[in-house]
Amino acid sequence: MARYTGPSCRQCRREGQKLFLKGERCYSVKCAVDKRAYAPGQHGQSRRTKITEYGLQLREKQKAKRFYGVLEAQFHNYFEKAAKKKGLTGENLLVMLETRLDNVVFRMGFASSRKEARQLVTHNHFTVNGKKQNIPSFEVSAGDVIKVKDKSVSTQKFKEIRDMSISTPSWISVDTDKLEGKVLAMPLREEIDTPVAEHLIVELYSK
Ligand code: SF4
Repeated sequence: MARYTGPSCRQCRREGQKLFLKGERCYSVKCAVDKRAYAPGQHGQSRRTKITEYGLQLREKQKAKRFYGVLEAQFHNYFEKAAKKKGLTGENLLVMLETRLDNVVFRMGFASSRKEARQLVTHNHFTVNGKKQNIPSFEVSAGDVIKVKDKSVSTQKFKEIRDMSISTPSWISVDTDKLEGKVLAMPLREEIDTPVAEHLIVELYSK
């Protein structure tokens, strides 16, 4: 499937806020949102016209897609599944995105960005409940144990994790000695710090 391969920082500048797509750099003075706080492109610095309601909804959807690194068709599928589940569609959508395996690996602190987490997953470095799992969109459930494969523990990347102190969201626990994490419960909306107003996405797709 085609994936966006352009500059990540451009996506943040388009949304006008940090989406934390590049790991360490996002926390440094090199962050492009801090250095150039205007939209990318030829007209990025021209006077902004008032954004319409539709424009707001569209931007919110784009932001969520970019934050989780999900493409349009896949994002729409998530929305349709979320709408069929019990409860609030917007919250269901965020929970589904948040429990993607690549996002969980990132939240466990085993990757500096979701992009890196996706690459680690596709390169077969993880098991879920003892079984090989290399699909980034794999949805984890409460009780699942995500572990670095035995063959991968000696790589420099994972050796470094053993010495790190990692802070995780309350719905995940991590054991850096064992190089594993556990999903304690499905995340609640208040435990998801994604800067997205999900009701705008619901409004957009409900038209
Ligand atoms: Fe976004 Fe990170 Fe680039 Fe800053 S450094 S613009 S947060 S990807």
